Amino acid sequence: MTEEKEFRYDPAAIEAKWQQRWAADPKLYAAEPATSQKPKYYVLEMLPYPSGQLHMGHVRNYSIGDALARHMWMRGYNVLHPMGWDAFGLPAENAALKNNTPPREWTLTNIAAMKGQMQRLGLGYDWATEITTCLPDYYRWNQWFFLRMYEKGLVYRKKSKVNWCPECATVLANEQVVDGCCWRHEETKVELCDLEQWFLRITTYAQQLLDGLDKLDGWPEKVRIMQRNWIGRSEGTEVDFFLEEEINQGSGIRDQEKERQRIRVFTTRVDTIFGATSVQLAPEHPVTKAFCAADPGLKTKVDELIEEQKRAREAGDVGAIEKHGVPTGRFALNPYNGERVPIWVANYILMDYGTGAIMSVPGHDERDFEFAEKYGIEIRRVIAPAAETEENKNLPFLSEEGVLVNSGAYSGMSCIQAQKLLQEAAARSAFGEAAITYRLKDWGVSRQRYWGTPIPMIHCECCGLVQVPDDQLPVLLPAQVEITQQGGSPLGRVPEFVHTKCPTCGGPARRETDTMDTFVDSSWYFYRYTDAKNDRKPFEPAIAQYWFPIDQYIGGVEHAILHLIYSRFWTRMMRDLGLIKNDEPARRLFTQGMVIKDGAKMSKSKGNVVSPDDMVARYGADATRMYALFAAPPDRDLDWQEDGVAGVSRFLGRVWRLVAKHSAALHVKRTGFSPYAESQRQSGALAPEGSLSGSSLKLLRKLHQTIAKITHDFEGRWHFNTCVAAIMELVNEIQAADSQLEAGEVSPAVLGELLRTLVLLLGPFAPFLAAELWEELGEDGAILRAQWPKSDPELAKEDEIEIPVQINGKLTVVVRVPAGAEAKAIEAAALADEKVQARTAGKTVNKVIVVPGRAVNLVVK
Ligand SMILES: [Zn+2]
Ligand SMILES: [Zn+2]
Repeated sequence: MTEEKEFRYDPAAIEAKWQQRWAADPKLYAAEPATSQKPKYYVLEMLPYPSGQLHMGHVRNYSIGDALARHMWMRGYNVLHPMGWDAFGLPAENAALKNNTPPREWTLTNIAAMKGQMQRLGLGYDWATEITTCLPDYYRWNQWFFLRMYEKGLVYRKKSKVNWCPECATVLANEQVVDGCCWRHEETKVELCDLEQWFLRITTYAQQLLDGLDKLDGWPEKVRIMQRNWIGRSEGTEVDFFLEEEINQGSGIRDQEKERQRIRVFTTRVDTIFGATSVQLAPEHPVTKAFCAADPGLKTKVDELIEEQKRAREAGDVGAIEKHGVPTGRFALNPYNGERVPIWVANYILMDYGTGAIMSVPGHDERDFEFAEKYGIEIRRVIAPAAETEENKNLPFLSEEGVLVNSGAYSGMSCIQAQKLLQEAAARSAFGEAAITYRLKDWGVSRQRYWGTPIPMIHCECCGLVQVPDDQLPVLLPAQVEITQQGGSPLGRVPEFVHTKCPTCGGPARRETDTMDTFVDSSWYFYRYTDAKNDRKPFEPAIAQYWFPIDQYIGGVEHAILHLIYSRFWTRMMRDLGLIKNDEPARRLFTQGMVIKDGAKMSKSKGNVVSPDDMVARYGADATRMYALFAAPPDRDLDWQEDGVAGVSRFLGRVWRLVAKHSAALHVKRTGFSPYAESQRQSGALAPEGSLSGSSLKLLRKLHQTIAKITHDFEGRWHFNTCVAAIMELVNEIQAADSQLEAGEVSPAVLGELLRTLVLLLGPFAPFLAAELWEELGEDGAILRAQWPKSDPELAKEDEIEIPVQINGKLTVVVRVPAGAEAKAIEAAALADEKVQARTAGKTVNKVIVVPGRAVNLVVK
C-alpha cells in the first residue's frame, strides 16, 4: 500500500515544487546580452489581450512557443522568449460601465490573474522584459512615433466617412465591420458618419509591403496571399473623358476638373476603350453633384442611390448590391475618337475607390454587360478571340487573348500591344497616363475612446495644429473619467485634460481628445521587449538589431492581415527613421489552428468552453500542455477531448514510475560520459558496440530514432503530435523490455542513458515532470541548460527494413530484408514470399525491377 502510494504520479505536488524553484530563479529564462557568444534565437507568441482568463487557444499557442523556446535553449542558443499585454481597448471601458471599476484597475487585475495562470502552466518567459501597453512607460513611445511620423508627413487629418458602432459609441475600422455589424456586437448594425480623423499614410509603403512578401518564404503561403489581396495592386490606365457641355463653375468640382471639364476614369483594360458605351459616376462624385445642382429631378434620384449605397455598406457588401443607375442626360466624349457616350450615375461605384468613375464596356466586362442589358445600353465587340469557339463567340468576351476590332487605327493589334500604345497616346496628348491603384487605404487611427493612447497634438486658435514637444511626453491619460456610452470622445469631457497652453505661442489651446487605434500598440511591441526598461528611447537600436528579425513568430491566423500588415509598415517606418536595419519584423511565422469542442469553436453561448484552470487542477499543467500538442498537428484545428488529457496524464504517470523504479538502482551520476558515443567507442573508453547485447542495441536504436525524429520536427515540420507519439513508443519499448532489464541484459550505463535521454526529450513538452525526473536521476543544474541529445545515425539504423512488392503495379505484399541488402537479395526475398508465389503461379515473370531500399516491381504475364 505504501509502495503504491509512493509510486503515484502527483502532478500537483511536483508542479508546485518546481513553480516555486523557477520563480526564485529570475535568471532561468532571461536572455543573455547582445554580447553573448551564443547564436541568438527570438521566439515570440502574440501577446494576449488581458481579458482576465486564458482560454484554450492561448494554452495551445503558448505550449507551441514554449516547447520551441526550451528546445532552442537546450540546443545552446541565446533565447529571447518574452510576454506582455495588449492592454488598451474597449472591453475595459465596457467593464467599467458594467461593474463601475476603473479601466486601469480592471486591466491590471486581469493581467495579474493571467500572469498567474501562465506561471502555473510553467511557461518559460523572461518576466523582466514584460510590457504592458496601457502604462505610460510604453504608450509614451506610441506618441513619440506619432510625432516622428507627423514630421515626416506620414500623419494627416481628413474628414472621412467612418463606421460608427452605436453600441461601442466609437469608430470602427472597415475590417472591424463584419457583415455590416460590429465585430464585437454581432447584432449591432454599423452606421456611417462624417468625422475629422487622423490617418497614417501606410499607402506610401504599399508597393514595398507587396514586394516584401516575395521574400517572406518562412511565412505561410495563405497569409502572404491574404496580404497580397489586402494590398490589392492593380495596374492600368487613367483616362479623361471630356464633358460635352461645360458645367457651372463653383459647383464644388476639384480645381483640375473644373478647369479641364473632364471625368477621369481608371481602367485595367484600356484596350477595350472603343467599346465604352457609357461613363458611370459614383453618386457622390463632384461631377454628379454639379449635374444635380442644375437638375433637381436628377438630385432626387441620386439621393436614392446614395441611400442604397449606404444601406449596402451597412449590410457589408457593396459588391453584391442590386445594380441600379440613372442616366444624367449628359454626354462625355471618348478622348480617342470623340465618340459621344451617355453619362450615368450608378449605385455600385464608390467615390473612395479608384477615381470614383468608370468607363462601361459591356462587351468585355461581366458587370457592365449585366448593367447594359438591364438598361438597353449598346453592347459592342471590340476584341475578337484569336480562334472562335462555341464558348467564346458570345459576349461578354473577357479574355485578353485576342485581337482588337472596331478600334480605329488600333484594330488588328493584340490586347497587350494596344494597351501600351493607347497608354502612350494618352500621355502624349495629356488626357491620361499609366496608373497603379491599391485596395489598401491609409490607416485611420482615430478612436473616440478613453482607454487608448492620447494623440499628442494640440489645437491652437492662433497656430493651428501644434505638436506636443517631446519633453512633455507622455501625454497622460487622466485617471478619473466618466465612461458613458454617449458619442464623442470621453476625454472631451475632462476639462483639465482638454484645456492647455499652446507650446508655441503660450495662448489657450485644446488638446486632441481622440486616442489611437490599439493596433498601434501591437505594431512595434516586440521591439520594446529587447530593451523594455529604456526611458530615453523606445529601445536601443543596437540591441534591437541584434535580436531582429524575430526568428519565429507564432499566433492565430485571425491576425494574418491587420496586425501583420501594420507591424510590417511600422518596421519599415522605423527603418526609415534609422532605428533598425531589418525590413520585416519576423523571419518565420506560424499560425496555429483553433481549439474547438464538439465540432464548434469554444464560446460561452455554446456552453462548450473548457477552462485551462480546470484541466490543470485535474490533470496537471504538463498533461494539459502536452495534450494541446499531441491531439492534432499544430496548424490544424484541435477538438478538445478530456479523455485525451486523462490519457496523457496516465502516460506521464508511467514515465514517472519507470524512471523512479530504475533510478534508485542505477545511482546514475552524470560524469559527462556516454556509453556509446562515437568518440568514446573509438577511444576504447567503453565496450565496443559489438559487445552490447541485442536488447541494448534494440533499445538504443529506438532511442536514436526518436531523437532524430523530434530534432528534425523542431527544425521545421513541427508535427509535435507525432513527436509526443514517438516518445510514447519509446517508453512502450523500454517497458516491453522489462524482463531483459530485470535479467541484466541491458547494462546500467545503457539504461541510464536511455532514461536520461528520455527525460531530455520530454523537457520541451512536459517541463515540470522533466525537471523532477532530471533531479531524480541525480543530475545537477537546470535541465534547460543540459544539452539536447544528438542522434547517432549508426545506432539509429534499422537492421531490417520493409520493402513493398508490386505485381503489375499493384501492391501485393511487404517483405522484410536486412538494411543495406543488395538488389539480388531483395529480389530473392520477394520471389520467395508465399503471396508472391501464389500470385505468380502458372505465369511468367518477365521482369523484376528492384529499387534497393525502396521497392520491388514484378512484371508478370
Ligand atoms: Zn460595437
Ligand atoms: Zn499657439
